Amino acid sequence: MPTHPHLRLAGKPASAPRCRTTGCALRSSGELGYCSACEAVYHAARELREQLLARRGAQLHAAHRAMFDALSPAVRNRLLAHMAARTAQQGQPAHVFDEFGLEDFLAELNDLGLTALT
Ligand SMILES: [Zn+2]
Repeated sequence: MPTHPHLRLAGKPASAPRCRTTGCALRSSGELGYCSACEAVYHAARELREQLLARRGAQLHAAHRAMFDALSPAVRNRLLAHMAARTAQQGQPAHVFDEFGLEDFLAELNDLGLTALT
């Protein structure tokens, strides 16, 4: 086969994709685009976030027990999760009942066609 040193292949040969974490040079190995080590950290961080939000929800429930206990368990859990995420995002203490968060929640229920809270 003749060689043509002045020619080169068009395009880049396929290489293994890199992990999506900034600064990580390992190969991506999963659907999320992380290497296995970074994916483990990602899942641990998500779990920690869920646990922290659950704690905020429990603290909010304890601070306003009469109001939340009047709701059905499904609506109560959904509202607590919504309110916990909202107050956490805004940097408010866990026991704060954010009335604008309640308005968001009610609007979301309305969008879903749900009107009963109990
Ligand atoms: Zn990585």
